Formats: sequence, structure tokens, C-alpha cells
Amino acid sequence: MLDRVRIVLVHTTLSANIGSAARAMKTMGLSRLVLVAPKEFPSEDAVVLSSGATDVLDNAEVVSTLDEAIAGCRLVVGTSARQRHLPWPLLNPREAAAQAVKELSGEGQDEVALVFGREDRGLTNDELHKCHYHVHIPTNPDFSSLNLAAAVQVLAYEMRFASLSSRETVDEEAPHWGVCWDVKGATADDTERLFEHLEKVLIDVEFLDPEKPRHLMSRLRRLILRARPDDIEVNVLRGFLSAIEKSVR
Ligand code: SAH
Repeated sequence: MLDRVRIVLVHTTLSANIGSAARAMKTMGLSRLVLVAPKEFPSEDAVVLSSGATDVLDNAEVVSTLDEAIAGCRLVVGTSARQRHLPWPLLNPREAAAQAVKELSGEGQDEVALVFGREDRGLTNDELHKCHYHVHIPTNPDFSSLNLAAAVQVLAYEMRFASLSSRETVDEEAPHWGVCWDVKGATADDTERLFEHLEKVLIDVEFLDPEKPRHLMSRLRRLILRARPDDIEVNVLRGFLSAIEKSVR
């Protein structure tokens, strides 16, 4: 199950942090590291700090955008050290890991991405708005930002703990969508194409003014991501948007 968890590090500056993150992952049995435009990689510092987790580094995938990193994932969780302007469904690491494990053990879900931000300013709002949930590690409010690899360690530990516990516990809760979908939850890439299509149509029908977008797209993203649409629902919405385009033409 843990092989299907992607740890995504966005625009990491210090390669030592990549090495420490690889070590943190391997200690918890995670192996899939995806790096979005790292400043320096491969790097000697990363190898040294990985303390032998070089297999994680060797197998790391380097991509240029977050969209590529989360392509194919049906659950995307973004981490944040601070509260953002537009609140998003927020979980603590334990809840996020429980959710991820629940979905990974169901039929409907294939891969999960946990996304981590830059050392200096975390994830941008646009990046966070590609995630279904946000996770905040409940730190000291006066000193809330952990080192990047330390944050990876906390989430990786919770993932491991949740995956071990899931073998022992019988889930007595009501079935969750993540485990009883009849159709697979939509992937991050299909969902992103839906948002692009939606934005285009909203501009075409002059509901969205690209000069003054306000938070319209962020709010619609939040609404749709909260609903966790499946493959068919995304297709239906795309078809609906195409029909609007045709009728407007
Ligand atoms: N100064 C940055 C903090 C970046 S810390 C900011 O204000 O956003 C680098 C990364 O570590 C963050 O992007 C996040 O992925 C992770 N991280 C650090 N502290 C965290 C916390 N308390 N909760 C969740 N993630 C955290």
C-alpha cells in the first residue's frame, strides 16, 4: 500500500533536504519520491544526508510541474505550515493518513500524493488549490514551520502507522465514498482539465472577467474538489460544458 504513496517535493532549494526526506521516507517504508523542479538534483549532499536511502534517490522522478507530479493520483493532499486566506478542508496528519489508507485499501483509488512546499515560502495558493485536503501539523502557533524533511517524517510516520493499524482494525464506520465508489475517483489530471474547461466557458459566457477574476475559480475548485467527483461525473460535467460552448456558438 505504501508503494502507492507519492511524496512530492515542490521547488526544493536545499538538496540536503531531499536526502533527509528520502531517509525519512525509507525509515517508514515509503519509496516513491517525486521532485518538482529541484534547484539541484542529483547531488552529493542529498546522497550524504540520505544515510543510505540512495535507492529512494535513485528512483526519484524529476518533473517540471506539480501537475505532472500528481498526474494519475486520485487523492491529493497538500501540506501547509500556516493558515491560508481561503480556508480549505483541513486535516491533521493522523486524519490525513487514515483517509489515505482508507482510500488506498478500497477498490476505487490507485495512488495518493502528499505534497510539500518550498523551504522559504511553502506551497503557493495555486498549488494548494489543486489539493483535495490540506494538512497542518499542529505545531506551536508562534513557531509553526518545521524543516521540510521533518514535516515529511511526520506524515510518513502517520502513513506507516495508519497502514499497520488498518490490518488489525475492522472498519466499523459507515462506508466511505473512498471505499465504495462504483466508479474510480477522478485523477488529478482529468480534474485539472475540467477546471481549465470550466474557466474557459465561464469567460466565454462572460460570467468570469479575466481582468477581475476575484476568487471565483478558487471557490469553484474548492466546491468540486470537496465533492470528490468520479471519472463519469467529470465526463458528464465536461460534456455539459461542451454543450454550453456549442449553444453559445
Ligand atoms: N515559511 C514557509 C514554511 C515552509 S516549510 C511558509 O510560510 O509556508 C517547508 C514545507 O514543510 C512546507 O511547505 C510544508 O510542506 C512543510 N511543513 C512545515 N511545517 C509544517 C506544518 N506545521 N504543517 C504542515 N506542513 C509543514
